[in-house]
Amino acid sequence: MALVIPLSQAYVFGRDGLEAKIAPPYDVISPQQREALQRHPQNITHLTLPGERTEDYEKAGILLEQWKRDGTLKPVSPCMLVYRQEFQLGGHAYATTSIIAMARVEPYGNMVILPHEETIPHHKQDRKLLAQATRWANLEPIFGLYSPETAIREMLSKDRGTPYIDVTSSVINDGTRHSLWKLEDEEQQAVTELFRSKQVIILDGHHRYETRMERNVQDCIMICLAASDDPGLKILRTVRVIGREAARAITRSTIEEYFTIYESGPGTLEKELARCGGDPCPSTCIGMLINDEAYVLSPKPAMHELVSGRPLIARDLAEIDAFLGKSRVPKEEITYKGIAGLDEVLGQCALTPAHAITPEALLRHIADGGGRLPRKTTYLYPKKWDGLVVAA
Ligand SMILES: [Zn+2]
Repeated sequence: MALVIPLSQAYVFGRDGLEAKIAPPYDVISPQQREALQRHPQNITHLTLPGERTEDYEKAGILLEQWKRDGTLKPVSPCMLVYRQEFQLGGHAYATTSIIAMARVEPYGNMVILPHEETIPHHKQDRKLLAQATRWANLEPIFGLYSPETAIREMLSKDRGTPYIDVTSSVINDGTRHSLWKLEDEEQQAVTELFRSKQVIILDGHHRYETRMERNVQDCIMICLAASDDPGLKILRTVRVIGREAARAITRSTIEEYFTIYESGPGTLEKELARCGGDPCPSTCIGMLINDEAYVLSPKPAMHELVSGRPLIARDLAEIDAFLGKSRVPKEEITYKGIAGLDEVLGQCALTPAHAITPEALLRHIADGGGRLPRKTTYLYPKKWDGLVVAA
C-alpha cells in the first residue's frame, strides 16, 4: 500500500523573522494577502506564487537555488516531522496534529493514494510550470487523510518538549500557531511500517499530486498526513456566495421549478438546516440567504433528476451548482467560501448545503469507491502552511 518515508534533502528557514516568511497554500491567498506577504523578500510565496508568466516561474527556480546557496534555506538531516496547529474556530480552541513526510506517487488505479475532488486542467498547468522551473522541488506539502491508527495516535500525543519550529504568522493574523518536532528514527520506521497497509485520501493538493503522477517517473511527494478522527481536523461547509447584482438572476419561478420553498429567518436558518438530511426531514435540502431573507429549499423531482448521478454525500452541493447554472448566474460572480457558521455570510447572497462533510464520512465514501466529488466541495481548516519545510 502507501510508501511513506522521511523527507530527504529537506530545508528550513532560520528562526530569525520566520513569522514573516510563512504563508497559507498558494490557492487560498487573495491578491491583497499576496502583496502583503511578498513585501518580505524571503516570504515563501516568492516561490509558491511567483506569477504566471514564463519569466515568473524561472525567477522562482533561480530564487530557490539562491536561497539554498546563501543559507536562507538551511539543510536538515532526513526526517519526518510532527506538525501541530493550535487555532480558534467559531469561538472554540482546537489543536490538530499531523505528520509531514514523503509519499511515493502512484497512479490512482493502484488504489493507494486516492483523490476526492475533480480538478481543472488550467490549475494543473500552472503547478506543472512551477514544478519544472524549480526542478520538481516540493515547495509545499499536499494533505492526506488516513484511517485512525492507535500506535500513531499515541506517537503524536507524546510530549516532545520544546518544538524544533514554533511560529505564528505576523502578516496574516488568523491566530494559528504552528509547532513542529522531529520524530525519532524508530518512530519514523514505525510510521513507514504502519502505512504499508494504508490508503491515503487526498484532501488538499490534487493539482500538485496529479502533476507529479502524470510525469510518469518514480517520484515522491511531500505530504502532510492526518487521521480522520483527529479532533482538530475540520472540514468546513463550503457555501457559494453570489454578488448582489448577479443574484438578481435568481427568480422565484426558477426556484419553484426545482425546490419547495420554506420561509426561514437569517437567525434560524442554521437550526432548521440541522434537521435536514435525516430525521425529521430526510431530504437533501439547501439554505438560501438573499436580501436579508432566509429560506430552506427542499428539492423537487426536477432537481433530483438534475443531480441523480452525483454522490449522495455531496448531493446538496451538486443541487446548488446545478441551480446556479439553471439561473444563469455567471461563474465569475460566484465565490466559494469555507465557513464555520452561517453568521459569516449573513447579509450576503449565499447558497449553503445543510451540513459540512465530516472527515470520517469522506474517508468512508472514497474508500468504498464512492467516486470524486464536485470541485470546491470541502474546505480543510486550518490549511497546512508553507515555508515551514521545503523538500528540494
Ligand atoms: Zn429539509
